[in-house]
Amino acid sequence: MRKLTSKLPHTATSIFTYMSQLALRHNAINLSQGFPDFDGPPRLIELVNQHLLAGHNQYAPMAGVGALREQISANVAAAHAVVYDPETEITVTAGATQALFTAMAALIRPGDEVVLFEPAYDAYAPTVQVFGGIPKPVTLRAPDFAIDWDAVATLVTPRTRLILINSPNNPTGRVLSDSDYQGLIQLIRNTDCYVLSDEVYAHIVYNGVQHRSVSQYPELRERAFVVASFGKLYHMTGWKVGYCLAPHELTAEFRKVHQFNVFSVNTPTQYALADFMKDSEEHLGLSPFFQKKRDFLIAALQETGFRPLPCQGTYFLVANYSAISDLPERVFCETLTKQYGVATIPISAFYHQEVNQHLVRVCFAKQEQTLQQAATRLKKVSPF
Ligand code: PMP
Ligand code: GLN
Repeated sequence: MRKLTSKLPHTATSIFTYMSQLALRHNAINLSQGFPDFDGPPRLIELVNQHLLAGHNQYAPMAGVGALREQISANVAAAHAVVYDPETEITVTAGATQALFTAMAALIRPGDEVVLFEPAYDAYAPTVQVFGGIPKPVTLRAPDFAIDWDAVATLVTPRTRLILINSPNNPTGRVLSDSDYQGLIQLIRNTDCYVLSDEVYAHIVYNGVQHRSVSQYPELRERAFVVASFGKLYHMTGWKVGYCLAPHELTAEFRKVHQFNVFSVNTPTQYALADFMKDSEEHLGLSPFFQKKRDFLIAALQETGFRPLPCQGTYFLVANYSAISDLPERVFCETLTKQYGVATIPISAFYHQEVNQHLVRVCFAKQEQTLQQAATRLKKVSPF
């Protein structure tokens, strides 16, 4: 029997899959994996049906349906006052995950170093490694997960190919400030580094906090891939449609890989999204919509042993459980799921090495009654 030498010997099944399965097995309320427990806009679903019946069922153009790329361009211009050419700078992808994967495939050569910030979304480091790159994690810590850009600078070498950022951040809920972007600009100014900016939660920010996109900073825009997801924008995580913005030369390289990675993305949903975006400002209502849920959860947690940390964006809240338990985070989450019927995600899963800050991530993209039920269960948690 031949033994395959793994390219990812230290990578296991994703924590999101693991905790969702555990929740299912124990009939727990699933506040772990990030997805809404409600449907997206009915009109959008109707539009997909219309396009299925209208025969939009063959391959879409490789870069994406033209009308959708035009709409994306218009939305990006409205949001950030920057122009991306639909023809040469916008590519529709099978979700943000594929956009991240393809951008890294286009950029990373064996031995290249990639600076990323932990806690980091679980897909980043394994994707770097698949292409022979070396992740260079910067460790950020609760409660504010602030970035010391001078410390980051010590990690940048001539081998640094890419800086990977994510704002609004999953899992911390933190949003990068203008001074963070200035730090990033300084960092890469005299280097050949590129920037990959995961902005899937761009439209979910709270209390007047402003999301800034790398695309707004000319010095960053010219070397950045910006990744977005319709799964977050319209509550349809299962559709797996997203996009990547990048200047012409970078997009050309991106598409060379994209054409052999997926070639093109699901056709009827692209037409439907194009129609829907034309006369909908749905995405502009996301912040107040989710802020109500966030505030409900924060208020509910005050009556439990959990202490929420500040959350400026995304639909995740980080909570500290040190008043309840001293267990490591993963064991704590497993026990909470099995004994109290509420599934969450250990923050340690977003670090490459074991850290225990007594933190869990709670997804509040849920109906109020789901959050209410979870709160009732969490109130019953006694120290363990
Ligand atoms: N990046 C981040 C930070 C995410 O949270 C997610 C999914 N929740 C993705 C990328 C992947 O998005 P998609 O489902 O569109 O692939
Ligand atoms: N991005 C989602 C989260 O953070 C999960 C997506 C997945 O399961 N890969 O929970």
